[in-house]
Amino acid sequence: MSFFSFNRFGNRLTFLFSLIFILLLLGISFFVSRVIETKMLSQVEASLLAKAKLVENQIPTSDTPSEGVQDKVKHIATQTQSRITVIDISGKVIADSMRDLSQVKEMDNHRWRPEVRSAIEGRVGSSIRFSQTLQMKMFYVAVPMFKGGDVERVLRITLGLDKLNEILSSVRKPILIGLIFGVFVVLVMGFTVGASIRKRVEEMTLAATRYAKGDLSQKIMVQGSDELNVLADTMNKMAHILTKRISEIENERSKLSAILDNMTEGVIAVNSQRRLVLMNQSAKNIFGISQSDILAKPLLEIVKNQLIDQIVEKSIAQSKTISKEIEMNYPENKILKANAVGMQEVGREVSSILVIYDVTELRRLEMVRSEFVANVSHELKTPLTSIKGFIETLLGGALEDKEQSRKFLQMMDEDTKRLARLIDDILKLSNIESKEDDLNLKHLNLKQLVSSVVEILEPQSKEKKISIRNQIPDIQVQADEDKLRQVFLNLIDNAIKFNSEGGFVTLDINEIPGYYEISITDTGLGIPSEATSRVFERFFRVDKARSREMGGTGLGLSIVKHIVENHGGSVSCNSSIGEGATFYFTLPK
Ligand code: ADP
Repeated sequence: MSFFSFNRFGNRLTFLFSLIFILLLLGISFFVSRVIETKMLSQVEASLLAKAKLVENQIPTSDTPSEGVQDKVKHIATQTQSRITVIDISGKVIADSMRDLSQVKEMDNHRWRPEVRSAIEGRVGSSIRFSQTLQMKMFYVAVPMFKGGDVERVLRITLGLDKLNEILSSVRKPILIGLIFGVFVVLVMGFTVGASIRKRVEEMTLAATRYAKGDLSQKIMVQGSDELNVLADTMNKMAHILTKRISEIENERSKLSAILDNMTEGVIAVNSQRRLVLMNQSAKNIFGISQSDILAKPLLEIVKNQLIDQIVEKSIAQSKTISKEIEMNYPENKILKANAVGMQEVGREVSSILVIYDVTELRRLEMVRSEFVANVSHELKTPLTSIKGFIETLLGGALEDKEQSRKFLQMMDEDTKRLARLIDDILKLSNIESKEDDLNLKHLNLKQLVSSVVEILEPQSKEKKISIRNQIPDIQVQADEDKLRQVFLNLIDNAIKFNSEGGFVTLDINEIPGYYEISITDTGLGIPSEATSRVFERFFRVDKARSREMGGTGLGLSIVKHIVENHGGSVSCNSSIGEGATFYFTLPK
């Protein structure tokens, strides 16, 4: 866009105004020179008329051309510096100051010359025309000369207009100079004013372009107090209001996205075609989505779950809330509770909002609980059924047989003890579970603690001729004394129980970064390696009958696991059949 481009608003404005001004100046100049010309002509007419009146009486009264008349007329013409012609009422020329007598006689009849015709009719006539005789533009004035009320002759006075033209051109010259000067002034002013308007309009155009691109930060600085300034002010105010509105909207949006992204529930919003309008971080985590350009994509393509797509479709179609629990296998096994809220209002961007709760853990806990209840009932039922059977047998007559009765009562005693142990272990477990953070931490000497446990278990170890090697050095750990004793009691008890006669139990300690790792190794029958990860489950026993026979409840290792985890450590087991077993647990230093 060049400076003189006609497309520019300012240039067009300048051009238009200059054109108008120039036309106006031309018009005025033309008008002024016309007025002056008319004025001058009427002055010339008046002076010619005055001259005619003045010389009228000096014209000799002759009806035919003659030398005498000619001389007189020539004399008067020289005095008045004009051409004088005398014509009779028939139009015949009687005398002419510019001609010789012979020429006069041959002159045309002048009757039809306009000024002569008027004069013959008794009025003063005038006319401007080009004279063939004199080869120039002439001003003719003819006056009637009366005799006794009738027109007798016509006196015509003629003036060459070359003089008049001289005067007129001397008048036109300053007008022309004025005109040129005026045009120059108009052009200069036009460009100056135009440039200023152009500058201001350009500033506003630039600002409007900036606004359109979203940059509302700069104000428009326009000088002056005219409409352009009012427009600039309005645009500045508009930008200010827009900035405020935009920041309000952005505030709201950031609040909303902060809430949405910090929710544990997954939130997805879709439009009427089930294309994504919004998806929060939790929803992305649930469906394992890492890509960022998901907006406007079909819901099914993103979540890859037919059921979810179906309930959203239904919620939109029925315009109500549809809830369903969904099992998901991809990207991992999960149980989700999906609530789709359908909104079928025309023109809304969002047609359904899907809220997803990950209930996998909840359902797992529910399952564990119900399994536990079933297991507990089962474990309690076995000794109870057995006790009931003995009582029935005794009541049925066996009571009479003393030997038999004693045997039955001994077995009932065993079962009762088992029941008591079971209930005891269940209570311990529930106690640990319900008071997870309730640890009475103290500095303990680990070696001493282990020795005291070994002492408690001496009868059992002696019975099976098992040697216990406590290789734990004199170190201090921070733990709940009763609970840590329970851990050693259960682990060493198992190591004795499942050991072979004359075997060994070795207790050792290892330092790993941040932890002590304590190991209890026995030389017993071991655990199948595939079962080592399951031994810490409640009621899990490799050999149910054998464990029961040995008085086990199947809860010992569960209790160990819980206590160790409450202390911030972890448990593990390393074993295979016939190789003995090593149980490990860690304690933070
Ligand atoms: P239990 O009361 O039956 O001993 P635990 O929870 O203490 O219950 O142990 C669960 C099961 O793990 C046992 O029944 C047994 O099959 C196996 N087990 C535990 N410790 C040992 C070990 N040292 N050697 C072999 N098997 C073991």
